[in-house]
Amino acid sequence: MGDGQSLAPVLWPTSTFALGSVAEARKLATTVGSDRFYSRYGNPSVSGFEDAIARLEGAEAARAFSSGMGAVSGVVLGLCSTGDHIVAQRQIYAATQLLFQAVCPRFGIDVTFVDGTKPGAFAEAVIPGKTTMVYAETPANPKLDVIDLDELGAIAGPVTVVDATFGPPVIQQPLRHGVDLVVHSATKGIAGHNDATLGVVAGSKELIDWLWGFAVLQGACASPYDALNATRGIRTLPVRVARQCESALAIAEALEANPHVESVRYPWLESHPQYELAKKQMSGGGTLVTFDVAGGVDGGARFIEALEIVQHATSLGGPETLATHPASTTHVNLLPEELEANGIGQGTIRLSVGLEHVSDLIADLTRALDIVASA
Ligand SMILES: *Cc1c(COP(=O)(O)O)cnc(C)c1O
Repeated sequence: MGDGQSLAPVLWPTSTFALGSVAEARKLATTVGSDRFYSRYGNPSVSGFEDAIARLEGAEAARAFSSGMGAVSGVVLGLCSTGDHIVAQRQIYAATQLLFQAVCPRFGIDVTFVDGTKPGAFAEAVIPGKTTMVYAETPANPKLDVIDLDELGAIAGPVTVVDATFGPPVIQQPLRHGVDLVVHSATKGIAGHNDATLGVVAGSKELIDWLWGFAVLQGACASPYDALNATRGIRTLPVRVARQCESALAIAEALEANPHVESVRYPWLESHPQYELAKKQMSGGGTLVTFDVAGGVDGGARFIEALEIVQHATSLGGPETLATHPASTTHVNLLPEELEANGIGQGTIRLSVGLEHVSDLIADLTRALDIVASA
């Protein structure tokens, strides 16, 4: 860094760049990852964010997208072709699941879903010569299942992909376990302030260069404004995530001790089915807690409405603590058995723990549980 440079990251709102000579323009137009030609190809504010993510993940390169789903669909449709086969985890983010179930078949891409928590499940479903991608998410929607990263990293042949949105790079690094690509909805904890919609993929330069070639045609490029907000977010990522993990564990313990709560899922609670694995591959339990309140669908709805500090909104990883009740909102059209198959109960609540004082949060949750129990 030379004298007189901005200490804070710089916003380049421009959609295009003054090119100088034709020879220079030709070079910029044909360089993979070029960030001074046209902003759909690349932009300095966006590449600043990509470089920061690559360093945090221990990757050679990264490419930003306009949303987490932009990144997920870019990876799947950019790397897989008609006749290919994908092995995917069954319990994953709902939009990713729909991409595999509804979009992939239209392009002649077969998908086999497996229970990712079952040892060896991914490797067993790989069809040599046909499977081109193994796709996992950890910790996973909605029950915070933890997937063994060493096991995924050991799979040779197909490209292995992990959606690590629930585990930012300060608490887990899938590439260090041998996984090929890590995907994030940076909308969540990475940008971390609920003011950016953004996705990112990190991995080897070879894979990211290939994805860049598809991404330029797909057009789901990141906005420089969102990339700048995310670079701002990254500068406080370790302290925010440390505080959120600490509060989440305290909340999970308080909920587990509360008689009005039927069950609690948190990777660093001893009652979590993959507790040992979570302790081994994560340096924090994550910023989400999933639990079931008594009283079924009405209990869940009443609980949400009784909260005062915790806000009712979908998303995660921001400064404000948010709660959602899938059975009465995102998954309202599913039958009880379909909810069950998605790991969601009638009274399941997903809590994204923010930065408020933990005793205020526990008091708010406890008070709302008392209101539901006395109804
Ligand atoms: C939110 C989310 C996505 C999608 O990200 P958008 O930025 O909303 O497109 C993908 N995976 C996981 C795990 C998410 O939580």
